[in-house]
Amino acid sequence: MTNEELWESVLAQTQLNISPANFATWFRGTKITSQENNQAIISTPNSFAKEWLEQKYGKLIFKIIHSLDGNLREVKYFIEKQNLKISSLQNPSGFCRTRRGQPSLSEDAQLEFQEFKTDSETNLNPRYTFENFVVGSFNELANAAAQAVVKNPGFVYNPFFIYGVVGLGKTHLLEAIGNEVVKNFSKKTVRYVPSEKFTQGVVTSIRNHEMESFKLKYREIDVLIIDDVQFLAGKEKTQEEFFHTFNALYEKNKQIILSSDRPPKAIPSLTERLRSRFEGGMIADISLPDMETRMAILKTKAREKGTDFSDEVYSFIASVVQRNIRELEGALNRLVVYQKINNRAPDLGVAEVLLRKITVNARKQVAPRKILQVVAEFYDIKERDLIASSRKKEIVKPRQIAMYLLREEFKGSYPFIGRKFGGKDHTTVIYSCEKIGKELELNKGLEEEIELIKQRIYTS
Ligand code: ADP
Ligand code: MG
Repeated sequence: MTNEELWESVLAQTQLNISPANFATWFRGTKITSQENNQAIISTPNSFAKEWLEQKYGKLIFKIIHSLDGNLREVKYFIEKQNLKISSLQNPSGFCRTRRGQPSLSEDAQLEFQEFKTDSETNLNPRYTFENFVVGSFNELANAAAQAVVKNPGFVYNPFFIYGVVGLGKTHLLEAIGNEVVKNFSKKTVRYVPSEKFTQGVVTSIRNHEMESFKLKYREIDVLIIDDVQFLAGKEKTQEEFFHTFNALYEKNKQIILSSDRPPKAIPSLTERLRSRFEGGMIADISLPDMETRMAILKTKAREKGTDFSDEVYSFIASVVQRNIRELEGALNRLVVYQKINNRAPDLGVAEVLLRKITVNARKQVAPRKILQVVAEFYDIKERDLIASSRKKEIVKPRQIAMYLLREEFKGSYPFIGRKFGGKDHTTVIYSCEKIGKELELNKGLEEEIELIKQRIYTS
């Protein structure tokens, strides 16, 4: 059999076994390129397709190929390089290990997006730098002060307090300062701590009678960055501890950098002495980016992801997402995923369809039924299994994702979602939603996977 004949037979048989939507998504643009040395080599158009074929349909494909030609005892997959310049794959052959279990679009898919790991010492994420921080009138002051702090930590603007509503770049700027200090002053101890983590530290240290070592650990820091201090509200013990840490560092001219979603005076139940400490240095706010800056941010982010769209598309996104840079990025990601899967850049029409959910009134909801149906189909499992209580790995993850989507997209209450899943307890639902939420922050592959599911929910 020629390569073409063999692959056509495989496709014909596969089609009988999987849903048309999955067939279209994963098998489009695939082919067999060689059948030498008892190996069938299959070319795939992108890393999504490769991983999915390998992990989810690998057994099925192998079975069919082997039954058609008994000499073929192994199947390998690779990514056919497209002229699309998205990836800088480090693994030139495109081959990768086959892992067991549920495919998660990791490895190559992540490589394409460049995965960053939080530094275990400083807790800083290297993806946040000044180089990829776009400056406009909305954050000019905060940025200028940050630059000054970086040049001379501890001696200008201490403490440095940044505030602004969620999604406008506080964490990015805070971490950029940290990363820059690490780069310029290798001897300085820098630590980035979300305020909840500080609280947690206080609580555990008290419980385990380790308060002394907790104190010591914080007092040897040269640049202490505490993110989202509004969460200290009402936590008296933590505030007290933080007050002492603050003073100890401040007296030694160590730099303290803080962020909050509001100015110090608007944080409720913050002790007066801590409030006045927060107000004792430089306070800078970040407001909303204007249209031009939103365009600039989109272009920067697209470039980071190794792609580029038309100005028409950028300006469309920038006009529908105005108040949150994280959402701006989310909208962009949608289009990036579309481009990866389809190997062509979305035009304005496509962008309008993909971002319809943002543009039409947010009240328009998807039906829970639809979410369950699409998730089940996406993972090729039965809706009934999704709802039941099987603990099999290949069911558990899709179930958690379905719960997460019911929460995020349908805005269902936890008990409501529990009922949709055959009367599960609301704590199970909370656990699942949190688990997926956390994993999303670390795993770009999962983000793309869920994005694909959403696209099916909103476009089918
Ligand atoms: P906040 O901490 O204020 O909620 P983040 O710092 O987490 O916001 O920013 C949300 C997302 O937007 C991040 O991915 C960040 O990289 C991006 N972002 C925010 N501000 C900018 C900017 N000025 N330039 C480039 N990216 C930005
Ligand atoms: Mg933040």
